Amino acid sequence: MAGIQNSNPQPDERAPAFESRRWYPSQLHPAALSALFMLAGLLWILWVNPLVTLWFQPAAGAKSLEPWPDALAILLSGGLLYWLLQARAKTVHRARRAQELRLAEFIEQITDVAFIKDRRGHYLALNSAGARLACRPLTDCLNRSDLDLFPAEMARTMIEEDRRVLAGGMLLSCENTFTLQGDTRTFLSTKWPCRDAAGHTIGILGIARDITARKHAEQRSERARADLESRVRERTAQLSAINENLERQIAARIQAEIALRESEERFRQLAEHIHEVFWVHGIDEERTLYISPAYEEIWGRPVHGLHERPLDWLEAIHPDDRARIQAAHIAKQGSGHFDEEYRIVRPDGAIRWIWDRGFPIHDAAGHVYRIAGLAEDITRRKLAEDQLRRQQVELARMARLSLAVELASSLAHELNQPLAAIVAYTQACLTLLRQDTTDPRVLTGPLDEVVNQGMRAGEIIRHLRELVQKHPAAQAALDLNALIRSVVHYAQLELRQAGVTVNLELDEALPTVIADDIQIQLAVLYLLRNAIEAINEKRGEPRELTLRTAMLDADHVLATVRDTGQGFSQEVENHLFQPFFTTKPGGMGLGLSVSRSIIESQNGQLWASANPEGGASFHFSLPIHSCC
Ligand code: ADP
Repeated sequence: MAGIQNSNPQPDERAPAFESRRWYPSQLHPAALSALFMLAGLLWILWVNPLVTLWFQPAAGAKSLEPWPDALAILLSGGLLYWLLQARAKTVHRARRAQELRLAEFIEQITDVAFIKDRRGHYLALNSAGARLACRPLTDCLNRSDLDLFPAEMARTMIEEDRRVLAGGMLLSCENTFTLQGDTRTFLSTKWPCRDAAGHTIGILGIARDITARKHAEQRSERARADLESRVRERTAQLSAINENLERQIAARIQAEIALRESEERFRQLAEHIHEVFWVHGIDEERTLYISPAYEEIWGRPVHGLHERPLDWLEAIHPDDRARIQAAHIAKQGSGHFDEEYRIVRPDGAIRWIWDRGFPIHDAAGHVYRIAGLAEDITRRKLAEDQLRRQQVELARMARLSLAVELASSLAHELNQPLAAIVAYTQACLTLLRQDTTDPRVLTGPLDEVVNQGMRAGEIIRHLRELVQKHPAAQAALDLNALIRSVVHYAQLELRQAGVTVNLELDEALPTVIADDIQIQLAVLYLLRNAIEAINEKRGEPRELTLRTAMLDADHVLATVRDTGQGFSQEVENHLFQPFFTTKPGGMGLGLSVSRSIIESQNGQLWASANPEGGASFHFSLPIHSCC
């Protein structure tokens, strides 16, 4: 402790001097004891012994009593006693001093504060550590009380402890924290009563150990332990939570695995018993991961062959379809979507039609990593459709033929008379001209007739057209978008057979138009069929047909049928809408002219334009239906 002098006391200075407050005979000085002894001896010789002798032997008289030799003996004995007692007292004193010095030496060796106090609380002995604590030389500390040496509060505490030790006669151990010269320190002091040989408490012995550093270390370790405990608690709670979570996950996973196993089993049973081929394609693996046994039945090839040669299924595709399907197969790796019809050639040479559809399977990140699909043998349906299509074509041909025959016979019938008249008048004119004598003016009459009959023939044809045009229309409010969708649906079969993709770009905000829906359906159907035929004629890609609606102006809507077909030349464009104009071998050349008649009869217009990138577009307008 700073400021404490480390005095080096002399052994005598440090020696405690116990004082018993009780009196014992042995504490009498040897001289006093010897004097008492001699006085008692003299009294006995001079007074008591003669009286006793006279009492019991009165005849002996005073003469027989001679006390002086006895008195001398008593005095000598007293002197001897004094000498013995003095010698013993010195020996005892020396022994006690030696004992006290050893005790002082002993407590000096103690590194803790060690002390001995008398019953009044005055320090009889104190070691250097104690003197340093009091910040005084050791000699200044002896025979002083705690109040003289230490701050008042500390002193009061120590005095109270001393009081308890003296009162209880027991060992007392206390832990106190004091502030000494601005320094806070903690002491563990142990005090016990100091007793004399007779067992009487004559003072207090004590040791005070400075445990400040230990306390700090304990506090630090307590804090560290508390911190560690809290961290352990926290970590334990976290681990418990993780554990619970894991247990839940494991339970859920077990459930999921059971469910998965069951569902896999159900799926396997389903996949292996359906007639369609179920397949799963791995994009990263670039091969078929699963294919159901129906593959062997439809393709006529073994499933294991597909595992050995992943493109086995592609090689089985009909050469005419292979390039298209190969392109679609590559495209499906990105989108995961696949919807194709194609033919396959079985090992026995038989051809089968397949409708193959694929759907993407996404991983957790949303990427397509597998494609699952169904391949269906649609050969029967295809044959039926072919049959139907052939019948439709035949029917259409027959219808066209009958219409043509009807028209032709009607025309023939109607034109027969004027033609016959023209022939007759012309022959008459020729006859007159051959006679050379005929006045040319005579010919004007028959020639006028020829003209008249020719005009009549023209009138007949015009009348016929008007008949077609003036077909009574049932005009009403009409949803043109819905009409177009229904026509596309109606022509679905033809579109699929031709491999034509339809794009609908319909303005959903389109107002209703006023028109005869049956007639407009007919016109749209004509345009649609022409477009399919033009695409078929071209025999190439792309095979697309777009139907679009939009507002043309404030009063009219515009519908467009746009194709990627062969298109038309300038020469053809000039005759497109003429009746009986056709460039097709079996064509009638009436579709466009009838369509224009229909549209115009509904107060609209129909026209054509060539697409810059190829193909043709046919446009028609119709008046909107103003309901108010
Ligand atoms: P048909 O279809 O019987 O030939 P149409 O009146 O419908 O009679 O057509 C007349 C002609 O107009 C066709 O032969 C064809 O040359 C041409 N045509 C019609 N539609 C198209 C089209 N979408 N693309 C190219 N040419 C077309």
